[in-house]
Amino acid sequence: MRIADVQEDIDHELISKEEIADIINHAAAQASEDYRGKNPLLVCVLKGAVNTLAAFSQAMSIHAEMDFMSLSSYGSGTQSSGKITVRQDLSTDVRGRHVLIVEDIIDSGVTLAWLVDELKSRGAASVEIFALLEKPARRKVEVPVKYKGREIPDEFVVGFGLDYDERYRNLDSIAVLKPEVYEGGQA
Ligand code: 5GP
Ligand code: MG
Ligand code: MG
Repeated sequence: MRIADVQEDIDHELISKEEIADIINHAAAQASEDYRGKNPLLVCVLKGAVNTLAAFSQAMSIHAEMDFMSLSSYGSGTQSSGKITVRQDLSTDVRGRHVLIVEDIIDSGVTLAWLVDELKSRGAASVEIFALLEKPARRKVEVPVKYKGREIPDEFVVGFGLDYDERYRNLDSIAVLKPEVYEGGQA
């Protein structure tokens, strides 16, 4: 979907498709240099990071394995519950592996801080993060992000994997919704 397909719901586009590609290509080029010879495991946090993982992995110039994990800290609304549950676990044993977590967005940081600890406690040789977006204003927990994407203001965004109530994930750019879209939904 493009912005034009859901124009009536969109307040403004924040990051275009082309800008997203630039951000991801830049990070993937850096990571390819750093992980050469290390057979990295890309860990995608479902569902939001799925588009980012696809673009990032394709932009890498070295072999990279991938696996998926589903965590929940958000319900259908726009506020974090602060509690993490594993809905679907990795199928890969991360012991001794160089893991690169691929995330859509870091908000409070609670989800990623938990995941970094979890992967380290499973014996990963190293754990680093690529996050497409970060909201520094909302950070509650420090997480070291090795490959940084774009910092954004404290606004709820959708698109390129990010949803509001499971919608807008298949939008090809990142946008802010009109407030009325949330009205009647959970906040
Ligand atoms: P955190 O644990 O860092 O507070 O947030 C983790 C998850 O909350 C993110 O991976 C993402 O799925 C969701 N999230 C945080 N901010 C936003 C946002 O602006 N839009 C959407 N759609 N999801 C968000
Ligand atoms: Mg996420
Ligand atoms: Mg969501």
